[in-house]
Amino acid sequence: MSTNPQNPYAPPQMPNDPQGPPPGSEMVAPCYKCGCPYAKRISFTWWGGLLGPRMFNHVKCVRCFSTFNAKTGQSNNTAITIYCVVGFAIAVILGLIIGILPNL
Ligand SMILES: [Zn+2]
Repeated sequence: MSTNPQNPYAPPQMPNDPQGPPPGSEMVAPCYKCGCPYAKRISFTWWGGLLGPRMFNHVKCVRCFSTFNAKTGQSNNTAITIYCVVGFAIAVILGLIIGILPNL
């Protein structure tokens, strides 16, 4: 057994790590594309407004810029698609109700 002065699984203090967390980023589940553990939180998206990215822990990888779930490290694309479809359906239903009600 060799002594390992730099334990790769050590807590994220890493003063010696040249690839420390970039400013504004945080440690999350590793990116599903490149495995990078650092990502920036996204507060607003075109598909979910302010609420969507919070619901899905949506973050952007600082290395490959793909977006994913900070807790699972997996893509949020399926969740985003469902979110958009449901949101669109609700919008259509609301539109129908608002459009129909005055004519009743
Ligand atoms: Zn990545």
